[in-house]
Amino acid sequence: MKLDHSFAEELTALASEVKPIKLINSHLMVFNNKLATEIGLPAEWQEETQFFNALYSKEGPLNRRSVAQKYGGHQFGHWNPELGDGRGLLLAEVIDEQKKRWDLHLKGAGPTPYSRFADGRAVLRSTIREYLASEALFHLGIPTSRALCLITSDEPVYREKQEKAAKMVRVCESHIRFGHFEYFYHSQQPQKLQNLFDYCFKYHFVECAKDKSPYLAMLEKIVQDTAKLIAKWQSFGFCHGVMNTDNMSIHGITFDYGPYAFLDDFEPTFICNHSDPQGRYSFDSQPGIGLWNLNALAQTFTPYLEIEQIKQALNGYEVTLLTEYSTLMHNKLGLVPSVTSSEANSKIINTWLDMLANEKKDYSATFRQLCQFDLLDENRNLRDQFVNRERFDEWVKQYSLALTKQGVRQSQRQTQMRQHNPHIVLRNYLAQQVIDQAEEGNFKMFHQFIAALEKPYEEIEEYQKYAAPPPDWGKELEISCSS
Ligand code: AMP
Ligand code: MG
Repeated sequence: MKLDHSFAEELTALASEVKPIKLINSHLMVFNNKLATEIGLPAEWQEETQFFNALYSKEGPLNRRSVAQKYGGHQFGHWNPELGDGRGLLLAEVIDEQKKRWDLHLKGAGPTPYSRFADGRAVLRSTIREYLASEALFHLGIPTSRALCLITSDEPVYREKQEKAAKMVRVCESHIRFGHFEYFYHSQQPQKLQNLFDYCFKYHFVECAKDKSPYLAMLEKIVQDTAKLIAKWQSFGFCHGVMNTDNMSIHGITFDYGPYAFLDDFEPTFICNHSDPQGRYSFDSQPGIGLWNLNALAQTFTPYLEIEQIKQALNGYEVTLLTEYSTLMHNKLGLVPSVTSSEANSKIINTWLDMLANEKKDYSATFRQLCQFDLLDENRNLRDQFVNRERFDEWVKQYSLALTKQGVRQSQRQTQMRQHNPHIVLRNYLAQQVIDQAEEGNFKMFHQFIAALEKPYEEIEEYQKYAAPPPDWGKELEISCSS
């Protein structure tokens, strides 16, 4: 492993050196050994005191050059030039054995020049939510930042009520956001914008840099990666909640978790963020917002590209998102894509979704139930789920016809469907139970739930309790934006 500080050294206009604060009775409560090994961290860091030394001691390798990053962002559609890491610090970049670069970023590190009116802290509740979500999405196959560790403390923090401060170390390719580009573009600093592009070509878009039109290749890559990411969110029923452009990664990964949710009952217009009454970031708005955000990013490419080239890149978004989404939904329903049956399959998929929405069925659980669909049976259990049986029966006719035509062996289809429809998803009511226990100092459920989320497609007796849709109280949880 090698540690580097390329962002701090080469993008000085975006980096303010800040040392992390210490919290009362800090304790390394969770360490993600698998991730640490994956990115090639030294084995001795898996021991608490060693890792703390690396993080906080004067000579600690992770304490040499920590920086808060400056950026801006469109928040709920409005440009805000005042943003930046208000409580996070980029500690270092790790270069693994494959020469891949990983940011280590400490969230909840204390005040920075960009904290504005806030305290620079993160609470245990939100830190646990981010940890759970990044691991859950990763194991579902959705691109995301990862969680390396969680540090608890006895430091009081004041939100709607008094809570405890915590920290986490987050890992991803880089923390460069759409908002970094927007900041230089809108503050009219063309040379600095150029430096940022040069930096990206050097470290993160190396292949694009070799293209005959590097800027177009880079924009196209971000457009494509973002489209594929959002197609995955939509197919798994994931709602991000705060898709401001400062929360959009240039790597097309899920990033900056806040009041996110996996859908319980399928409500296409579901809003998971209680600070978003208009539903700008509702579940079914996400694809459109993805494009809105890419438009905001694309504006920063205008010094380098013709308008027609920008349009060309952005036009790829819808096609890629729809193609990817269609593939994912075919997999979820066990349908084999083919040119001749494309229209019929789309109708089957859309009608199924419409049935789930009309009857507010649990999104993940009903899909999982569909994995047992038996061509030779009445499928009573599934049928009984629906009030409109006539519609269900009509749909089953079309679905059965399509499955029969495909000629895939039934057991094979069912097995494949189980690999695309998770048995365990990160439901808010379960996250809340983990938090309630952790706030009492008990991390037993945290560890067990993480173990379950690592194998979301398997039905393991011990984790069966995490597969249940929420009880009524669990459907009405208000996830506060404060974190
Ligand atoms: P978020 O909605 O979490 O993406 O945060 C938006 C902005 O507010 C970012 O610039 C954060 O760094 C900043 N921020 C959020 N919470 C805090 C806090 N407790 N202290 C300082 N800055 C914060
Ligand atoms: Mg953010």
